[in-house]
Amino acid sequence: MGQRASDTRGITFEDVRIPKENVLGVPGAGFKIAMSTFDFTRPIVAAGAIGLAQRALDEATKYSMERKTFGAPIAKHQAIAFILADMAIGIETSRLACIKSAWEIDNGIKNTLTASIAKAYASDVANKCASDAVQIFGGNGFNSEYPVEKLMRDAKIFQIYEGTSQIQRIIISRALFENAKQTM
Ligand SMILES: Cc1cc2nc3c(=O)[nH]c(=O)nc-3n(C[C@H](O)[C@H](O)[C@H](O)COP(=O)(O)OP(=O)(O)OC[C@H]3O[C@@H](n4cnc5c(N)ncnc54)[C@H](O)[C@@H]3O)c2cc1C
Repeated sequence: MGQRASDTRGITFEDVRIPKENVLGVPGAGFKIAMSTFDFTRPIVAAGAIGLAQRALDEATKYSMERKTFGAPIAKHQAIAFILADMAIGIETSRLACIKSAWEIDNGIKNTLTASIAKAYASDVANKCASDAVQIFGGNGFNSEYPVEKLMRDAKIFQIYEGTSQIQRIIISRALFENAKQTM
């Protein structure tokens, strides 16, 4: 559907035996290690989503100033200007969430919660911004001669990989309940 420059394939292991000296870590600990890497990778995925959303805003802003309907650039219609403003609000706030989760890593603070917030929020913002950019381009937005249909296709995977948006919300809500238990 999207992100076609990043090829993805399944791999299968059958009857694979690993010599003892090649074993990394402790057998059985792999799942925990894999999960802990998400604290580092989710802010990076959020950053990618923010980049996509920013491109959508840049393209839509330029287009809205050039495209004229009824004698005026569509940017002059408040209905269009407010869509752009909402895109900017989402981008700025998801960028701050992303920076916070990365700052926590740099400062040795456990960032599982903020990484999930940044990843879930930036993914949703990217999808909204890409869809809104297509809307601002009108029929041209649906057309592959313009850049925004690709952004819309590329945006979807951000809500799926590195833990789906539902999984992020499970992590976030669990943290809420854990915190609440401490104060009860
Ligand atoms: C091109 C591509 C590249 C990918 N690259 C990566 C990568 O580099 N790293 C990575 O981590 N992942 C990556 N993934 C994602 C990963 O492979 C899975 O697709 C993803 O983790 C979701 O698992 P699933 O597809 O089995 O969906 P399922 O687990 O079957 O989920 C289906 C739906 O049910 C929801 N769901 C499942 N369980 C629950 C639950 N307990 N509560 C509420 N809702 C639930 C999900 O959110 C989803 O909406 C990639 C996926 C694709 C398509």
